[in-house]
Amino acid sequence: MEDRFQLLAKKLSGELYWDNAMRTVYATDASAYQETPLAVAHPKTNQDIQTLIRFADENQITLIPRAAGTSLAGQVVGKGLVVDISKHMTRILEINEKERWVRVQPGVIRDDLNKVLLPYGLFFGPETSTASRAMIGGMVGNNSCGLHSIVWGTTRDHLLAVKGYLSDGSEVEFRELTDKEFEQKKFNPLDFGVSNFIEQIPANRKFEHRIYNRLDQLLSNTENQTAITDNFPKPTIRRRNSGYALDAFLPYYKGSSPNKFNLSKLIAGSEGTLMFLTEIKLNLLPLPPKETAIVCIHANSIDEALRVNQLVMQYHAPMASELVDKYILDFTNGHPEYHKNRFFIEGDPQAILMVEFMEETQEAVVQRAEKLVADLKQAGLGYAYPVIYGEPTKQVWDVRKAGLGLIRNLPGDIQPVNLIEDCAVDVTDLPAYIRELEQLLQQYNLTYSMYAHAGAGELHVEPMINLKTTEGNALFREILAETAALVKKYGGALSGEHGDGRLRGEFIPFMMGDKVYQLFKEVKRIFDPNGVFNAGKIVDTPPMNAFLRYKPDQAYANVDTVFSFSRQENVLRLTEKCSGSGDCRKTHLTGGTMCPSYMATRDEKDTTRARANSLRDFLTKLPSSYERSEGGKAAFMDKAGQGVARRARVVKEVMDLCLSCKGCKSECPSNVDIAKLKAEFLQHYHDVNGIPLRSWLVGNFAKQMQVASMTPWVYNTIFGTTAIRKIANRFAGFHPDRTMPLLAKTPLRKWYDARVLEQASHPVKTNTSKIVYLFCDEFTNFNDVEIGKKTIFLLEKLGYTVIIPEHHESGRSYLSKGMVRDAQTLAVKNVELLKDLITEETPLIGIEPSAILSFRDEYIDLVPESLQPIAIKLAQNALLIEEFFVREINAGNIRKEQFNQEKRLIKLHGHCHQKALASVVPTKKMLSLPANYEVQLIPSGCCGMAGSFGYEREHYEVSMKIGELVLFPTIRQQPEEVIIAAPGTSCRHQIHDGTHRKALHPVEVLFEALV
Ligand SMILES: Cc1cc2nc3c(=O)[nH]c(=O)nc-3n(C[C@H](O)[C@H](O)[C@H](O)COP(=O)(O)OP(=O)(O)OC[C@H]3O[C@@H](n4cnc5c(N)ncnc54)[C@H](O)[C@@H]3O)c2cc1C
Ligand code: SF4
Ligand code: SF4
Repeated sequence: MEDRFQLLAKKLSGELYWDNAMRTVYATDASAYQETPLAVAHPKTNQDIQTLIRFADENQITLIPRAAGTSLAGQVVGKGLVVDISKHMTRILEINEKERWVRVQPGVIRDDLNKVLLPYGLFFGPETSTASRAMIGGMVGNNSCGLHSIVWGTTRDHLLAVKGYLSDGSEVEFRELTDKEFEQKKFNPLDFGVSNFIEQIPANRKFEHRIYNRLDQLLSNTENQTAITDNFPKPTIRRRNSGYALDAFLPYYKGSSPNKFNLSKLIAGSEGTLMFLTEIKLNLLPLPPKETAIVCIHANSIDEALRVNQLVMQYHAPMASELVDKYILDFTNGHPEYHKNRFFIEGDPQAILMVEFMEETQEAVVQRAEKLVADLKQAGLGYAYPVIYGEPTKQVWDVRKAGLGLIRNLPGDIQPVNLIEDCAVDVTDLPAYIRELEQLLQQYNLTYSMYAHAGAGELHVEPMINLKTTEGNALFREILAETAALVKKYGGALSGEHGDGRLRGEFIPFMMGDKVYQLFKEVKRIFDPNGVFNAGKIVDTPPMNAFLRYKPDQAYANVDTVFSFSRQENVLRLTEKCSGSGDCRKTHLTGGTMCPSYMATRDEKDTTRARANSLRDFLTKLPSSYERSEGGKAAFMDKAGQGVARRARVVKEVMDLCLSCKGCKSECPSNVDIAKLKAEFLQHYHDVNGIPLRSWLVGNFAKQMQVASMTPWVYNTIFGTTAIRKIANRFAGFHPDRTMPLLAKTPLRKWYDARVLEQASHPVKTNTSKIVYLFCDEFTNFNDVEIGKKTIFLLEKLGYTVIIPEHHESGRSYLSKGMVRDAQTLAVKNVELLKDLITEETPLIGIEPSAILSFRDEYIDLVPESLQPIAIKLAQNALLIEEFFVREINAGNIRKEQFNQEKRLIKLHGHCHQKALASVVPTKKMLSLPANYEVQLIPSGCCGMAGSFGYEREHYEVSMKIGELVLFPTIRQQPEEVIIAAPGTSCRHQIHDGTHRKALHPVEVLFEALV
């Protein structure tokens, strides 16, 4: 096959990969399934798609169209050639404001589309919880909808036309046809002899005609019509995503539809099994009313919440009515990212029903919310009814939308599964259906969570099952079988919005009867007789409990790690937490930090998800007998195990563009901490393969600076002279265009020690009282000495005694290069040295976020168990200088009057570690202290430098690309008088290299503002 792939690659203008790394990355989506594809293509042009189809047909392999890969039923997993359109086919082609439609390529992200449509006063309605990354191609494939489906409908409702390729490689457009056009289209030239009309049909249209002809035969047949009417879900259920949407054509045949024949409606929900889409035309809606309110009805039980839902739907016509149960709510408690969104929760509700209203005026929306609250009180339903208006409603929806990802934070092997999460029934049947479903799950002693679209008759019910055992695997099937029977009893749909894929396909014959299933098979045969498109989805699916991520009863290697993973149970478990939700595929337009490498490259391989999955795959394939390599070093891999070594190289390759920014640690709903995993992995990799020179140089940054600072002028001559620097950079593996931080004449600590000595010999009476300990990190010590001095002067001027205690470097540079054992040694020493000194009253403050925050993050997992409680206590009193300032401002110890009255505008870029482990809010507050200083946050993620990453030759381009996403353009727009502030040393350097502007540390800004 390899030589055939080589030939194919030459014919494509996009890329084709068949290496292990890419195949591993594309072996999963957001479902429980895993199957390694044969190859992966990133097509660039329509011609590429046609070439791929012809190749697949000739070689009898199947193409798996893939967009963002957030499908929950395994739609984009299989042993075929995955065709990922998300990288290149991402253009908005035409916007017609007057006729309210848009034409897009399939790789346009739903939320990004709406951002572009905003100035036109239009938007595309259907929204999934994944709308920040789900793409229009995928939404059509799954006929997606979301929490406003009761008003804005499904993707099919807004699909006007599609263009793309059929399984014979011919191009086609499916749109609404006039009766005459339909008559002509359904004339099948293959069925009749030669006539003038047939001769006029070009060869590349014949297959299209055949499709219309056969489908018309199938759909006009009254027996088939009856089978469809009798077996599809009740007509009142709008969420219906099982099988092919043949029912959508019945009104046309029965003459009861104002709409003409439009085959694009069948393509919606066909899961890439009928054609390959290259263009999609969508209907747009005028923007919704701007005033919003969400009534958050706190219920004492699920049943009560569902009775509220009935009342709401019957009398209050909301925009949305969504349920979140206690199980999910509890997961937001203490979550680094989501806890702040819990502000509206009162007491301990068993469920909250979130009912949304939208109106043009504030009075109108208040009136509707108040009317609902009054009705509920009168009916005795619910116990609290906080109403949230305007901007904060986003936080309420964040709690609701985060559900699926959040419950992946459950410890242990028993995990929530996507299985019966998508069943929809009539709203009036919902309480009874859920009661019976709860009884069923309780019979099996299963715990479960429930959330989502109560107003549309659909709750995502997620039972907790251990898929790693044979019993769990069998239970997985049994629960779906029993639930299917229940859903059928209520005339519901087994899939409301997530689709069949390979999860529910097996149950379609049961749900819809064999007659309808045979019709579906016929539809597939008509469009795709050779299985070119996404074989094994919707029809002819393998057993639903085959090809799961976890092999039943598999024994796993017990890997010895340097970091403690006890907070996440073990290293494997941390990788397993990735649910595939794809939040790490957000773009820079969405905001946030995770994941900068993906934002720059738009390559699935550079997502957090890819990294977690490839490491998980690697760990699960380690021989279970595998433990330690010789010398007592814990190691994932062994020179002897060639397979292990090969797989380790795959992981290394996938990890390569991770900047260790820690964005995922807080923004991933499952807190998959790739920075930690990468460091641990690299340590083991080095144990076997040795440490590359550049990594060694970077890791030992502080030691080198120590030596260089003996003759700083030598170092500064080399790195301060462009021509010499370029040569030196090349030698060390850094990019020649990257400037290097220069050395101060005297390191901060040396200057400080001399100053202490001098002060001891000439004591000056001061009015200082409070002691603070300054962490003299390695970057400030050697390079940013002036900032260090200003910190000391500023604090002294404000009345503090600053002491630089005895300590070692932070270990950050070791951590960034996977030299975890070296970092561990430092962590232990630092904790020992500082443990008795640092208290709440005498905190340790740091000015370089990446250094001081290692006390709060890595140190806790690096020190031995006996030292952990001490490390935790130390972490609580290790503060960013901004946090210390805010504490003192709040206590009245630092005041506005101590600073000038000048008017200044400050644009602030936060450090990624600060955003992930602390917050930029204190920095904003600190900088806003002078009366007339206005601080605006730059909505940037990571700056792209990330320690040594941006210096490295092969990473320089990606680093600058990340800077160009938001940070550089924003700074370039600022007039000279605007102050650019950035607490991170790397960020300031990156800003300098990317924009030639000097960014200041917040300390410098305040120092200059002192009166
Ligand atoms: C946390 C979470 C929450 C979710 N919430 C919702 C929700 O609220 N509502 C909802 O409806 N869904 C939801 N989903 C499911 C999923 O996000 C949606 O189905 C989404 O629209 C899929 O988009 P995608 O870009 O990821 O498509 P993919 O998963 O990549 O593909 C989806 C289908 O489209 C097909 N396809 C993609 N591109 C093409 C093409 N060019 N030609 C032909 N076929 C193509 C694929 O083969 C596949 O069958 C959720 C998923 C997760 C993980
Ligand atoms: S890494 Fe996190 S955000 Fe990315 S897919 Fe996995 S769970 Fe979702
Ligand atoms: S640490 Fe940063 S770059 Fe690495 S996976 Fe997480 S978000 Fe992406």
